Amino acid sequence: MSTNPGTVETHQNYIAGKWQAASDGSLDEHHDPARLSEVTGRYPRSTNEDVRAAVDAAEAAYPAWRDLTAHARGEYLKRALALMSERTERIARVITIENGKTLAESRGEIVSAIKEMEYQIHQGLRALGEIAPSALPGVLAYQYRRPLGVCAVISPWNFPFNVPGRKCTPALIAGNTVVLKPASLTPNVGLEFTRLFADAGLPPGVLNCITGSGSGAGESLLKDPRIQAISFTGSTSVGIHINQLAAGRLVRTQLELGGKNPMVVLEDADLDEAAGACATAAFACAGQWCTSTSRVIVAKKIAGEFVEAVLARARTLKLGSGLDPATTLGPVCGAQQMKNILGFIEEGRREGAKLLTGGRRAAGEGLDDGCFIEPTVFGEVNPGMTIAQEEIFGPVLSVFTADGFDEAVTIANGVRFGLASSIYTKDLERAMRFVEKTEAGLTHVNMVSAYKEPQLSFGGIKESGSGIPEGGRTGIEFFTEHKVAYLKYRS
Ligand code: NAP
Ligand code: MG
Repeated sequence: MSTNPGTVETHQNYIAGKWQAASDGSLDEHHDPARLSEVTGRYPRSTNEDVRAAVDAAEAAYPAWRDLTAHARGEYLKRALALMSERTERIARVITIENGKTLAESRGEIVSAIKEMEYQIHQGLRALGEIAPSALPGVLAYQYRRPLGVCAVISPWNFPFNVPGRKCTPALIAGNTVVLKPASLTPNVGLEFTRLFADAGLPPGVLNCITGSGSGAGESLLKDPRIQAISFTGSTSVGIHINQLAAGRLVRTQLELGGKNPMVVLEDADLDEAAGACATAAFACAGQWCTSTSRVIVAKKIAGEFVEAVLARARTLKLGSGLDPATTLGPVCGAQQMKNILGFIEEGRREGAKLLTGGRRAAGEGLDDGCFIEPTVFGEVNPGMTIAQEEIFGPVLSVFTADGFDEAVTIANGVRFGLASSIYTKDLERAMRFVEKTEAGLTHVNMVSAYKEPQLSFGGIKESGSGIPEGGRTGIEFFTEHKVAYLKYRS
């Protein structure tokens, strides 16, 4: 991909083992979030015909792929995994150019994708069934899991590489075929992901990738009656819409949605560690982790000192293009995203929160043409404010104070989301009570809110998620159905 005008590359979909343009030749342009005037590439605006062709290909490829052994399927996936490691630098650059995150953050995303893919491949090689001692003599009673067929994967722009990996790997190793529709803001990352499998020699049609809009190509894909499962990561509003679409056909959905993740800091916390984790989880990837900390709830006694420590860290962040190794805070992902975030900041001011730092679109050398927002911290936030309730998905942190543990937990739970939560305290009892009481799919004690390991599931509760979660053992569970058999071998 190019960053020079005049040499803008035109990319193609991957359908049935062939790279191809949209059936009507239509294209969308992608703009660099660090330099909006720069077109980074042109991508097929896939039509209904393209969607149909991709599902046709996945449907045709399914029987042969399903009938391979998991070991044989695993060989293809291991080759793609090896290419993933080899191409880390190339892919990191593509992620940074499209998403805006720093190269270090992009490399981190790939490292994490490699570990998850490795785990899911091995998980697919394990026995996925069980034998039950039958109540009858001479009967073998057992159950196992088998693939579903053609699955749709719809991915977001914030982890544009990792999320397709986390979804497609278990789907494929279990014997399904896949049509992937990446977010419009990160089409080339989706295509680079797909290229690994194409270059690994995956049989045509097993993995297909079509670019284009969510409401156009995305929705037309989900409405295809041949789709047997939908794995989606994105906003809660689109997730609810997808669930309604899928319910009409009893299609299973795996929905990983928005968050409004709280961090609680009690008076006995290691303040330095807590402030470091808070600043990281609030501002890394410009606050666009789904597990970013957007609310910190601090014990009153230590609030002043803690906030100073977070502000000091926010001040050290260096805004700039993610390609510049000196940058520690890249742009947010696109003009619309920037507008949304600035709108929330304005709303926070209007509703009476106290702006402690930031609050503006960043200006200055190398910034004026990009989607840069100053790291922003609001104090005196109360739980009824818009910035306390809505997912902002930008480098904006809201500080609340609480009188004690119970009040902190009430504030933490007082939102419709439930993805990740964290607490900093040395008191084991209160830490464990927090784990029990906090309404989140993922909780951290004295650890940054985004930490995760591939061998455990990843998913939210409340309006942050629905269905069998990704990752760990459930990664493959979602993409398979139960089959039970009773077999009489002796009368
Ligand atoms: P989004 O607007 O919901 O879009 C997500 C994906 O869905 C994109 O590929 C989008 O395509 C597509 N889409 C949109 N409307 C669709 C429709 N009607 N039918 C089918 N597909 C449709 O979310 P986003 O703005 O890309 O991502 C940010 C959100 O993702 C945040 O809310 C964040 O919290 C959440 N997220 C959650 C997790 C998690 O694991 N819980 C992880 C990462 C991100 P277009 O791009 O073309 O619109
Ligand atoms: Mg969107």
